[in-house]
Amino acid sequence: MEVLYKSTRSNKNPVHASEAILKGLSDDGGLFVPDHIPVLDRTLKELAVMDYRQTAYEVMKLYLTDFTKEELKTCIDRAYDSKFDTDVIAPLREAEDGHFYLELFHGPTIAFKDMALSILPHLMITAARKNHIDNEIVILTATSGDTGKAALAGFADVEGTRIVVFYPKDGVSPIQERQMVTQKGKNTLVVGIHGNFDDAQTGVKKIFSDREFERELDEKGFQFSSANSINIGRLVPQICYYVYAYAQLMAQGKIGEGEPLDVVVPTGNFGNILAAYYAKRMGLPIGKLICASNENKVLYDFFRTGTYDRNRKFVLTSSPSMDILISSNLERLIYHIAGEDAEKNRSLMEALSGQGKYEITAQMREKLEDFRGFYADEEQTRAEIRRLYEKCGYVIDTHTAVASAVLRQYLESPEGGEAKAQGRRALVVSTASPFKFTGSVMKAIDEKYGSMGDFELADELSALAKVKVPKAIEEIRTAAVVHDRQCDADEMKDVVREFLGIR
Ligand SMILES: *Cc1c(COP(=O)(O)O)cnc(C)c1O
Repeated sequence: MEVLYKSTRSNKNPVHASEAILKGLSDDGGLFVPDHIPVLDRTLKELAVMDYRQTAYEVMKLYLTDFTKEELKTCIDRAYDSKFDTDVIAPLREAEDGHFYLELFHGPTIAFKDMALSILPHLMITAARKNHIDNEIVILTATSGDTGKAALAGFADVEGTRIVVFYPKDGVSPIQERQMVTQKGKNTLVVGIHGNFDDAQTGVKKIFSDREFERELDEKGFQFSSANSINIGRLVPQICYYVYAYAQLMAQGKIGEGEPLDVVVPTGNFGNILAAYYAKRMGLPIGKLICASNENKVLYDFFRTGTYDRNRKFVLTSSPSMDILISSNLERLIYHIAGEDAEKNRSLMEALSGQGKYEITAQMREKLEDFRGFYADEEQTRAEIRRLYEKCGYVIDTHTAVASAVLRQYLESPEGGEAKAQGRRALVVSTASPFKFTGSVMKAIDEKYGSMGDFELADELSALAKVKVPKAIEEIRTAAVVHDRQCDADEMKDVVREFLGIR
C-alpha cells in the first residue's frame, strides 16, 4: 500500500515520498509524516539472516513506496559500501551485564549522521529524476559541527548536486574545522562565517525564503534543497539500524525471538529516537524508549511533566551535538500522540514559537507510556567514560556516555531494577567514535591527558582502547586545506552566487 506524506500542520495536499524528500519541509512550515505507519512484512527469523543492505531495503521499501526496487537497491548499494570501515556497517559490542552498544560511527565522518547522510544524496537525485527535475540540486547547510562534515562527505562528487556549508569561524572544534576545510570534491564549498551558529543558520534560512533569488536560480538551472535532520530522507534510513540490531542479536542468540529490547538513545534533535519509535510501531519488539539528555534537559522535563519549555539557560557541554533547546523532530511525535490532529499540533507549535513553551493534555501523555526520560550531568558523563573503560576496557565518546550513564540510572530505578531481575537486555545507541571527541574522552579517563593536543591524544587513545586510529582522523592530519573562504553573514548570498557562477 502506498505511503503518502502529510504535513504535521495541515491535512491538505499529501505528497509522494520522493516529493517529500525533495522539499524537506512542507510549505506550511510543518514536517512530513507518513499517513500510516507500515508494518514489517518479513518475520524476525527472515530478517536475522540478512545483511545491512538487505535489511535496509526491507525497511525502506515500506516507506519510500514510489521508488522502484531497482532505484532503492542502487541507492542502498552506493551508500553502504566501503566508505564504512566494516562490512557489517553497524556493529554491536557487548559490554557488561548483557547490555549492548550499537556502534553507528563506522562511516566516513565517524559519527552517526553518516548512517543517513550517506544515502540522502542518492535518494535526492533519484527523487529529482522521478519528478522530472533537470535543475542541479544545491544543498545549503549551516552547521555547528557534525552535520556539515557528514553532509559534505555524502554529497561530494555526487553528479547533479552541489553543496555549500557555512560554519561559525570560531565556533567549532579544531578537529571539526579541519575535517571540513580539507573536504575534497569539485561540487563542495565550505565557508567560515564571522559570527556564531545562529548567524549562519539565519543567513541560510533567509536565502531559502528569498523567492526572487529562487527564480533567478531556476533560470540558471539550479534549485535549493536541505539536508537537515527533519528531512524524511534522513529519518527513514535511521529506522533500518534498529531492525538490523534486533535481528542480529537474535541471530547471535543474545535475545529470543520477540523478547523486548529496551533502547537508550543520546538525544538532541529527537531524530534518532523517533526512528526507534517508528521501528517499534512497525512491529519490532522494542521495550522502553529511553531518551537520554545532557544538561540541556528540556526533554527530560517534558517526559516528567508534560510541559515542553525552552525558556532556560543554554549550557555548553562536552556532548555538543546534544546541546539543543528546540528538538525539531519532536513535532512528529506530538502530532502522532495528538491523534494525527494537525490543528492541535499547529497550535502547540505556535505556542512554542510565541511563548517558548506548551503543555500537552493528559490524554496525550498516556500515549507516551513507552518513553522514559533521564539525563546525565557533566560529572556523571565523565565518570561513566572512566568506569566503563576501567571495567571493560571499552572507550566510548561523550554522547554515548550520556546514554550509558542514563542506562545505569534506569537500572537503579525500581522499574529498571525489575527489568534487570527479569534479565531484560538493553541497547545503548553509540553515536560517535571516541576519536572525534578525544580531548574530553581522554581527560575523563585521566586528568594527565589534559595538556596534550588532539592528534597526540588520538595515538594515546589508540593504544589504550586497542583500536586503530580511524581513517577519518589519519586523513586530516596531513590533508591539505582546500577551503579558506570566509565572509560576513550578510555576504552569504553573494558567496553562493559566485560559487554557482551566476554573478
Ligand atoms: C546528532 C547527534 C546526536 C543527536 O541525535 P538526534 O537525532 O538529533 O537526537 C547525538 N550524538 C551525536 C554524536 C550526534 O552527532
